[in-house]
Amino acid sequence: MTNPLLADWDTPFRIAPFDRISDEDFAPAFEQALAAHLAEIEAIADNPEPASFANTILAMEGAGEALDKVLSVFFSVAGADSNDARQALQRDVSPKLSAHSSAIYANARLFGRVADLWARREELGLSNEEARVLYLTHRGFVRAGAALEGEDAERMTAVKSRLAVLGTAFTQNLLKDEAAWYMPLSEADLEGLPGFVVDAARSAGEALGQEGPVVTLSRSLITPFLQFCPRRDLRQTAFEAWAARGANGGETDNRSIAAEVLALREERAKLLGYADFASYKLETEMAGTPDRVRELLMQVWEPARAQALRDAAEMEEMLREDGINDALQPWDWRYYAEKRRRALHDLDEAELKPYLQLERMIEAAFTCANRLFGLEFKPLDVALYHPDCRAWEVTRDGQHLAVFIGDYFARASKRSGAWCSAMRSQAKRPKIETPIVVNVCNFAKPSKGKPALLSYDDARTLFHEFGHALHQILSDVDFGSVSGTSVARDFVELPSQLYEHWLEVPRVLEEFATHAETGAPMPKALLDKVLAAATFDMGFQTVEYVASALVDLEFHSGTAPGDPMARQAEILRGIGMPQAITMRHATPHFAHVFAGDGYSSGYYSYMWSEVMDADAFAAFEEAGDAFDPATAEKLERFILSKGGSQEAEDLYTAFRGRMPGVEALLKGRGLAA
Ligand SMILES: [Zn+2]
Repeated sequence: MTNPLLADWDTPFRIAPFDRISDEDFAPAFEQALAAHLAEIEAIADNPEPASFANTILAMEGAGEALDKVLSVFFSVAGADSNDARQALQRDVSPKLSAHSSAIYANARLFGRVADLWARREELGLSNEEARVLYLTHRGFVRAGAALEGEDAERMTAVKSRLAVLGTAFTQNLLKDEAAWYMPLSEADLEGLPGFVVDAARSAGEALGQEGPVVTLSRSLITPFLQFCPRRDLRQTAFEAWAARGANGGETDNRSIAAEVLALREERAKLLGYADFASYKLETEMAGTPDRVRELLMQVWEPARAQALRDAAEMEEMLREDGINDALQPWDWRYYAEKRRRALHDLDEAELKPYLQLERMIEAAFTCANRLFGLEFKPLDVALYHPDCRAWEVTRDGQHLAVFIGDYFARASKRSGAWCSAMRSQAKRPKIETPIVVNVCNFAKPSKGKPALLSYDDARTLFHEFGHALHQILSDVDFGSVSGTSVARDFVELPSQLYEHWLEVPRVLEEFATHAETGAPMPKALLDKVLAAATFDMGFQTVEYVASALVDLEFHSGTAPGDPMARQAEILRGIGMPQAITMRHATPHFAHVFAGDGYSSGYYSYMWSEVMDADAFAAFEEAGDAFDPATAEKLERFILSKGGSQEAEDLYTAFRGRMPGVEALLKGRGLAA
């Protein structure tokens, strides 16, 4: 019998036949699919015909169909519905997949064909998108080191494998430091803490086999503890332990690892011919160069710092009123900010919740997509990987566009967070493919017969992930490798963060934020409070973030620092870091940057995207209508349909007529002068 993962899927829209697949099918399917892909690649590399776009690049785009099918099913269930067997498979499969992709990039005959096409690109008569895919394919090989020879190639392999070892060690040290520290609390120490923090401290104590409650370095416990604990001495002890993660001396100390990682990254960039690692890393990003990132961050830094210093002065007053004659310290900030928040915005989540029903928020997200882009959503009855998953067919003017799957509820088998993934990406060549897009969230599941209610953050997450989904659904390009969300990291959050703005359109909340029992719309006063609370303490949040992003950028610009801690201190002095605020992630525990390559000299990208989403939504505001048809049409034509088929900067400029400025972001964060 054919393995159901590899068979032709005769289901509606060729959705994977989840009800026919069992865990035992994965391992043999992986083996077969990897071997089949490799054989296809070999055949392309060994083709006796001279290289052409069709027999090389197009052939590579079409290769690996079986592998794509297996991966799409496996990664769906591994992330959203895991079990022991699937976890074991994942441990087994990840190194095989990375070896598989290394083997393709190391195929010298294949690279020879790609390089030959690249050299002759002007004579090939390529379309813009074909030229783009050739450029990206060639660049991918070069950046992986395919053009290196002899000693350089060997050194590159050694550098990469050492970096992988160091990244793992960095993460494990951090986990060990976080697990090793806890602070027992007496019953008297609990005074002033709200019930949920007390409960969390008690269950943390139980988990560690302690008599009473404890504070640990888990973010979900230490953050509210620092926010609510009135005892300054306890806050200081806890904060100092939190800040020292990865820098406690001994075997788990990450400081020398950070120095070695930075030196090796510099070496890697230089082997490939770049001035430094930041230049290498930013080449593929919309920002393009370290200077442009620095310029953006500094434009935001000054107003954020000014706001933070004003807030600090007010909180220092509150410190005096509490009889403390000392400067405001990092362990004071969250506590006094929480006091101010309660005084300024008495927003009660419990009051808000009945107005945010999951069903109505899904409806709101769909209706906005209908008003903006004419999309229609019809429930689809198909077997999926879990009974909580729901599917819709997405059409426009009666034409099938995509399948959208929503998997909204938390469960033990799902990893935390929220994400959007494509089980299949849109493409026209070599084969027409329509997208299958999944949004996965972790909303609390209601008891039977009760409506599912969301927090405001949950509702924003739903819109955010749906914005990513639209990027896939509306994709209209030739090649799968540049479709949907296959764009630069500092561009990919634009559609998602932009879509969050429609949740805040008063007309949308008036229509869809209705009370679960009475059906009454959310009162205007409550809505105003929600919107006002959104900019609270933004000085602090922006400062701690931008400081981290600047340190990340400077670490990778120029010569790698021999002593990263000294360099970090120097950078912070240089920008006038307020003394009561620390970096959101200091070097010894900056996992975004040191656990792997993902966000190294890329931590800025969240803010880069926010600059664009604020500026892009302003286009609708300037048109006087959040659903302005002409602006929506441009958004789809120049951004949502284009994927990575053109440079992000060109796409944005085509949509907006210019590149974004920081004004809309500063206004959105309440930091505008
Ligand atoms: Zn996102």
